[in-house]
Amino acid sequence: MPGMTRRRFVAIGPPNHPGAAPPPESFAGVIHLVPTESLHAMSRRRQIYEGKAKILYEGPEPGTLIQYFKDDATAFNAQKKGTISGKGVLNNRISEHVFTLLGNIGVPHHFIRRLNMREQLIRQVEIVPIEVIVRNVAAGTLSKRLGIEEGTQLPRTLIEYCYKDDALGDPLVAEEHIACFNWCSQDELHDIQDMAIRINDFMSGMFAAVGIRLVDFKLEFGRLYEGDFSRIILADEISPDGCRLWDMTTNEKLDKDRFRRDLGGEVEAYQEVARRLGLLPEGGENAVLDLESHRKKKGS
Ligand code: C5P
Repeated sequence: MPGMTRRRFVAIGPPNHPGAAPPPESFAGVIHLVPTESLHAMSRRRQIYEGKAKILYEGPEPGTLIQYFKDDATAFNAQKKGTISGKGVLNNRISEHVFTLLGNIGVPHHFIRRLNMREQLIRQVEIVPIEVIVRNVAAGTLSKRLGIEEGTQLPRTLIEYCYKDDALGDPLVAEEHIACFNWCSQDELHDIQDMAIRINDFMSGMFAAVGIRLVDFKLEFGRLYEGDFSRIILADEISPDGCRLWDMTTNEKLDKDRFRRDLGGEVEAYQEVARRLGLLPEGGENAVLDLESHRKKKGS
């Protein structure tokens, strides 16, 4: 069956990625200021996984999860930590938009629907323990590693892989490592590469249409099991947290590099991306994004 892989019985990979980790027995009682109706729902739910920017809860039906977007921001493998107020709301909305459009062009993905300002319903998958980095323009660790000036257009799109392991700092790996340690099969890697290229083509056009250069971005994929078979689908999120987005005219950074490099204006940059994608009302800099910030502003 094309694109399908017979169920694997050995999962090799770090124990801490979503979908693979055994669910903890108790709810850790994480307190987030969210609209009250969500809070009631949250307290009854079982937390499956907590990452740096998201929490996964058990979903309402088997095979589903709820993905909650936090305002927490980390960089340099969590050596730098902070909060970008309202980021979770924006990322939830931006990711919903991008996944929906990718679905429309036939990219299979885990997104089912957005539930509220910070949560979306997703399909539960077994995450492939590889971060797929797609690069169009030299920046970040590529520039550092190879001494290429940031902003240099690459002669062709470059795909890199990092092994998902926080303790090791997500090291760069080659296709040979992926095959050698069986993190995914050759067929699965081909599907991942095909999808990464299609996603890049689509997103480059989508952002170019609103004056944004898609410099690079990170994707994660997962195995969706259907009986004895699994297929690879796009998972995680696509948002300014995991993309480098530069204004095409000014080269201004509209992504998490504002936080990583202490440039300030993180929320404004994320809002600008959402606004250009048509996800905020025009003149939306004062739009109420979140009940939490609304309440704070009103001092209640
Ligand atoms: O830091 P680096 O240049 O390798 O990042 C390449 C791209 O992948 C950037 O868009 C960055 O935001 C994203 N990335 C990510 N999560 C990581 C590593 C990189 O979202 N753990």
